[in-house]
Amino acid sequence: MTPDDLKALVRTVPGFPKPGILFRDITTLIAHGEGLRSSVDALANLANGLGASAVAGIEARGFIFGTALALELGMGFIPLRKPGKLPVATLHEDYALEYGTARLELDPTLVNADERVLLVDDLLATGGTAIAAATLLRRAGAVVDHALFVIDLPELAGRTALEDHGLATHAVMA
Ligand code: IMP
Repeated sequence: MTPDDLKALVRTVPGFPKPGILFRDITTLIAHGEGLRSSVDALANLANGLGASAVAGIEARGFIFGTALALELGMGFIPLRKPGKLPVATLHEDYALEYGTARLELDPTLVNADERVLLVDDLLATGGTAIAAATLLRRAGAVVDHALFVIDLPELAGRTALEDHGLATHAVMA
């Protein structure tokens, strides 16, 4: 499938979660067998040559694409979790979202020292989530230079924000 075919599988929902927001609902793409397969293939192509040995994904939709990509690349998967889910001591980062604030948590024992980790999420908006995720992984000892997304919303300039934090953006569609 082409990026345009994949784009057509994403549902746009106006006014969610707040008035004025155009929410890109990617669950319609995830539920489409060929769309899911093509998205994961495209992520694997983007990951080609980036030289990582693990994939980290952001809860919740980053778990879906991140785990599929990790399997495709023969790597392990490191979950970046929403607060209060992990049964062990965690590192955390608070960050601003397009609509509100949030926190991510990481079990630092999942990261090997100086391991190169690819960061994966479904969608890049302002970049705050991915920057918090990369900061957490780096605090745990990882080297994080690349972030992969299914969708980049270029009007929110997340790519520039990520660049300012030493992260190159790779996206299946914009
Ligand atoms: P950012 O931190 O502003 O880049 O927002 C990206 C995070 O919020 C990702 O984890 C996305 O899953 C989520 N997000 C923001 N906007 C949307 C959207 O329109 N559709 C789906 N997820 C979104």
